[in-house]
Amino acid sequence: MTMTASERKIYPIVKFGDPVLETPAAAVTKFDDELKRLVEDMFESMYAAKGVGLAAPQIGISLRLAVIDVTFKEDPEAKLVLANPEIVHTEGRQRGSEGCLSIPEFREEVTRAKKVTVRAQDLHGKWYEKTGEDLLARAFLHETDHLNGKLYISHVSALKRDLIKRKIRKLVKAGEW
Ligand SMILES: [Zn+2]
Repeated sequence: MTMTASERKIYPIVKFGDPVLETPAAAVTKFDDELKRLVEDMFESMYAAKGVGLAAPQIGISLRLAVIDVTFKEDPEAKLVLANPEIVHTEGRQRGSEGCLSIPEFREEVTRAKKVTVRAQDLHGKWYEKTGEDLLARAFLHETDHLNGKLYISHVSALKRDLIKRKIRKLVKAGEW
């Protein structure tokens, strides 16, 4: 059976403040059709939100599952499914602007490793290792953090983090979050 775009579900993105974002997610244990459908929906939801990475907790599902496409549909080979990912090696340093679909409208400079190797399971439960540099390295770290209940703002100074949280509280009060 083929699936068309119209059958896919676009999930709303959970925003900062929802406890699911700060809760370590549960391991993926079933590599079945349901998981396949969820992954397809996650890609569609990520593209709809103009993102290059999306973790399951960001759609309210506390599972160690993330999708990444740093080429944003340019290269089908770049579509990555990461189930139960672990960072196994990091190297070097890069500093650059980082944002998160769950913290819209904010961006901060974040220092990350420049080269990162992740070990994860694919849709069939098969383990693989992949090494990425620059944006892909950043995505591996950012998405794996999500599955551990950690957001990128935990990597910025306490001062900047408090400022962001204050601004978000104001937006919440104004009904704009
Ligand atoms: Zn994020």
